[in-house]
Amino acid sequence: MIVMKFGGTSVQDSAAISRVASIVASRLSEQPLVVVSAMGGVTDKLVQVAETAAHGELTNALGLLDGIRNRHVAAASEMLKPEAAAVFAKELEARIAEATALATEIAKQRAITPAQHSYMLTFGELLSSVLVAAAFAALGVPSAHADARRLIVTDAKHPAAAPLATPTRTKLQETIPPLIEQNLVPVLGGFIAASESGEITTLGRGGSDYSAAIIGAALMAERIEIWTDVSGILTTDPRICPAAQRIAEISFHEATELACFGAKVLHPATLLPAVEHNIPVAVLNSHKPSEAGTIIRATTAQHGPSAFRAIAVKRNISVFNVNAPRHVGSLRFLDDLFSLLRWHHLQSEIVAISGASASVAVEGSRELVRLTSELQALGEVDFQPEMAIICLVGEDIRGRVGIASEVFGVLAASGINIRMIAQGSSEISVSFVVDEKDAVNAVQQLHRHLFEQPASISAHAAPVASQKTVQV
Ligand code: ADP
Ligand code: ASP
Ligand code: MG
Repeated sequence: MIVMKFGGTSVQDSAAISRVASIVASRLSEQPLVVVSAMGGVTDKLVQVAETAAHGELTNALGLLDGIRNRHVAAASEMLKPEAAAVFAKELEARIAEATALATEIAKQRAITPAQHSYMLTFGELLSSVLVAAAFAALGVPSAHADARRLIVTDAKHPAAAPLATPTRTKLQETIPPLIEQNLVPVLGGFIAASESGEITTLGRGGSDYSAAIIGAALMAERIEIWTDVSGILTTDPRICPAAQRIAEISFHEATELACFGAKVLHPATLLPAVEHNIPVAVLNSHKPSEAGTIIRATTAQHGPSAFRAIAVKRNISVFNVNAPRHVGSLRFLDDLFSLLRWHHLQSEIVAISGASASVAVEGSRELVRLTSELQALGEVDFQPEMAIICLVGEDIRGRVGIASEVFGVLAASGINIRMIAQGSSEISVSFVVDEKDAVNAVQQLHRHLFEQPASISAHAAPVASQKTVQV
């Protein structure tokens, strides 16, 4: 069997859903299971519903829910016969009533709990998965809707719960194979799940990719396919560089590093279940299904003219530089620093340590200014908000000389100031922090130099013993 996951733009309206049905129809012999996201933009609208309700503006919140209802009604009426449309309408009204009750409760409290926030966000996938299953049946693809909340078991953390492998595997193995044996295509909503006690959870924003990988691993799929709106993983985000090129093959390590440092095309946790079971993952374009896309494998062959595979950028970053001379030689300094970050639920993106000083880049910006005063208990603190991390990835950079000077030369020539540098301990990435306002220019200059010219220094640099800057 194979797992095919279709993201928001791939199911954004009736035309997109019909395209998905014909892609799936052409693959029935491979026994597909389909995972879908909410219709494009619906999860963002549900965030607005939750926030508007929490401000006590119930009428506006219900107006937003009405917009969501109308989009589903329009798509259903364009694809389903009246009888099937009526069955779907019943399900839709029941879900909208549930979301209305939740919004009313939130508005009454004038506040929202993390559990209520997660619950509100699940309505997008609940609706899209029922709609897509009905559309498949109407378009000649025999299908069966399966409720992901009964199959993906997680802890009860919000907003991003962690899957529990054993109960999830048991439930999926009990439920899915009988459907496939009846030649039905199971259709599940991505992103949504529930805890063992039945509390509704999500896997975090962008988490439908992760759902697909969890299901693929539990059912030992031959392949996991992530169908999106671009033709695979590209050398950088095409919204920043329209000249970004398709990467035919990429390693699990490289793709994970890119996803962790902001390449939205894949949720960062997606590849872990696939790596564990050595299941290849493909990234494909549902708008251009005949294009080859990208295949992600455990190991890949040497690649093109550049030693780098791709560039990722993560915005909304702050850097804390902490200088604690009185802690020289003391292990307590780092302990205290990381305890404070943990206390604030902050994960360090990159860290550079030298003697009794440390620089830490974390996600978040001006709202983190309060942390400065707490860090001052350790030493002098310099807080730099509105930064971005740029990450260059490539298995081929391992142990090469001249890589850093080439990259920093390009940035220096463009007058871009580097605030912090780190090389991943796997030696397949180099990351650095720049002012957020310089990020787009930095990516464009680097992309031009590394991928749009016939040969860069990094292509010729000879491998030597490893040269490290700072460990991540
Ligand atoms: P989906 O809704 O299908 O999950 P996403 O919006 O989450 O799609 O991810 C696809 C988007 O990721 C693309 O439209 C593109 O702008 C962005 N992206 C960022 N970095 C890359 C990259 N290196 N390669 C391809 N797409 C990228
Ligand atoms: N719909 C969810 C989101 O927009 C999950 C996903 O699409 O992957 O974050
Ligand atoms: Mg996505």
